[in-house]
Amino acid sequence: MLKIGYLISGGIITNYKCSSKCKHCCYSSSPQWPDDYMTPSMADEIFSILKGLGCGSVHIGGGEPLLKPDKILAVLEAAKKNGVHIEYIETNASWYKDEASAHAILKDLKKYGAHTLLISIDPYHNEYIPFWKVKALMAACSRAEIEVFPWLMDFWSDIDAMDDRRPHSLDEYARLFGREYPLQLAKRYGLNLKGRAFKTYKPMMKKQPLEQVLKQSKPCRLLSGVYHFHVDLYGNFVPQSCPGLSVPLKELARGADPGRYRVFYALETAGVKGLVELAMKEYGFNPQAEYAGECDLCYDIRNYLVLERRLDLPDLKPEGHYRYI
Ligand code: SF4
Ligand code: SF4
Repeated sequence: MLKIGYLISGGIITNYKCSSKCKHCCYSSSPQWPDDYMTPSMADEIFSILKGLGCGSVHIGGGEPLLKPDKILAVLEAAKKNGVHIEYIETNASWYKDEASAHAILKDLKKYGAHTLLISIDPYHNEYIPFWKVKALMAACSRAEIEVFPWLMDFWSDIDAMDDRRPHSLDEYARLFGREYPLQLAKRYGLNLKGRAFKTYKPMMKKQPLEQVLKQSKPCRLLSGVYHFHVDLYGNFVPQSCPGLSVPLKELARGADPGRYRVFYALETAGVKGLVELAMKEYGFNPQAEYAGECDLCYDIRNYLVLERRLDLPDLKPEGHYRYI
């Protein structure tokens, strides 16, 4: 059985659609995604299960959760009803237009129990969002008495060295701070190299023979991330560091059938070696001679199953993770 006995703290993904298409986004969010948002009944179900599993606080993220500020209020209401505390809402500040409209949104968020915004501050986001919006949203939060959790202040001076009225590409940063800047940025940020982040940095990674990659394979322990898991708008549990893999939370709470979630089960118990064996035996997958590590091989297989074979596998959801990269 695939089963979760308890969870401590994690995040709720209200939507995958985003105003930006950041190069470091491990969820592969972008404007291309369908315009779906977590419904009030799904939010109620998720918070009730989380509370039952012992999880009393979560953050809210996306995509950009404040793309639809009216829809987030019902999610906040459902959290309150189920006694789940909202630690913070993540936002990229792209929705900021002016002081009055921002104040109205912040006032509503506060009324519904949200007291902190995590505001993204880094050069990846600055490729899409001019810095003046971040500064103005921080000022608006201060006036509305909403706490700001700046993520990350370390990058403030780098971004502030640019003209804050417009976005700036990573190439501009490399011209100002040196050619190695994009690579150093990944290290400074502590990137989770999955999804689009993996695609961005894969060309800079060293390849190894397939046999060596398989030799390193170990169980991925997808269910062990009890402190930083996510649950998305479709009710799926998203493992701590591996988006694009999922099992419905309500099934995991009572015990999910490994025979239905074979990709997930293979990775959980045997790692990518187990997934290669499954994909070769059942789906005609042919591995390449070299890979940039286990996750490269894992993505090659998952992309093959979703994009090439067009299989509707319940544990490789949402498909947009692969499609909109
Ligand atoms: S990192 Fe955040 S702002 Fe950027 S694409 Fe992903 S969800 Fe959107
Ligand atoms: S091999 Fe796959 S499941 Fe395991 S950590 Fe890498 S991406 Fe995640």
